[in-house]
Amino acid sequence: MPSRRRFLSLSTFALPSLGLPTLFGGKSAALKPIVVSTWDSGVTANNGAWPVLKAGGHALDAVEQAGIAIENEPSCCVGLEANPDRDGHVTLDACIMDDRFNCGSVVFLERIKHPVSVARKVMETTPHVMLAGAGAQQFALQNGFALEPVKLSADAQKAYQNWLKKSEYKPVINIENSPKTKPSRKGNGPFAPSYFDDGTPNHDTMGTIALDVSGNVSGMCTTSGMAFKLHGRVGDSPIIGAGLYVDNEIGAVVCTGQGEEVIRMAGAHLAVELMRQGKSPEAACREVVERIVKRDPERAKTFQVALIALNKSGEVGAYAIQKEFSYTVTSGETPTKVFPSKSYFG
Ligand code: ASP
Repeated sequence: MPSRRRFLSLSTFALPSLGLPTLFGGKSAALKPIVVSTWDSGVTANNGAWPVLKAGGHALDAVEQAGIAIENEPSCCVGLEANPDRDGHVTLDACIMDDRFNCGSVVFLERIKHPVSVARKVMETTPHVMLAGAGAQQFALQNGFALEPVKLSADAQKAYQNWLKKSEYKPVINIENSPKTKPSRKGNGPFAPSYFDDGTPNHDTMGTIALDVSGNVSGMCTTSGMAFKLHGRVGDSPIIGAGLYVDNEIGAVVCTGQGEEVIRMAGAHLAVELMRQGKSPEAACREVVERIVKRDPERAKTFQVALIALNKSGEVGAYAIQKEFSYTVTSGETPTKVFPSKSYFG
């Protein structure tokens, strides 16, 4: 993990600092691809995406592979073995968006291993953007996806049993800096911390945005949603414009954290529009965070929202309400690195 000072100097990936050619008027037309994912478990996602980008493939294929990689990882809080809702059901949400405003989404999907790929099928083979619940599952089965058994990971099972003791419905998410829930960096899987020391689940979402060698941008978001949510609840992650937005003239943004707060602000779309107005990726993410905080500064102390952004020049930025948010960057020039995000409270 880089020191804070080093992070500050690297937190914006300016093209010249990576020795990359510029898009407009540069010496070379070739761009270096880059992929950025939320959290340190973004390493798994980026590892899925990178071979596609490295081979000159399309950003859309890369982000789908990122989603598949993380949905295959049982120690991360997304996918079939992740945290259930308050009634014990794992319900998955995902979306994907390409460089031509094509987008697809599935919500409240049960027992299908790769919601990100179902979302892509919705995008590519139907006239619709979003399918929900039993209809989304039926569509997946008709398109060759298998119906998987119901199975929670050991961590998710433990966390759910713990939660059932009080069954307190507190839709609070990702408060990494709470003294009560300060996470152990020991972790439960390859990446820490999927769960806090007291068994409270941490983040539940993986978002990935990528720029390919042809200069095209795409993004995806996949999640089991907020742990122990009301049955039927859907957050920001599969909502185009809230959890994810891509405009190939500008760049891409993906969000994580308390989805209700992101939806109110149309967080990802707002950040893309702020970049259109000339803000850097980090400044755009910061302004979205500030608007969320401004709505209720006291309450904002109790939840997390974080955004990552990538512009067409390959610059990356992030901002979060609470500290402890991190994001993972893989590009041609550097090995994969995890960076701590700047935060509003911190
Ligand atoms: N944004 C997700 C949701 O609200 C949760 C998360 O990012 O951890 O469902």
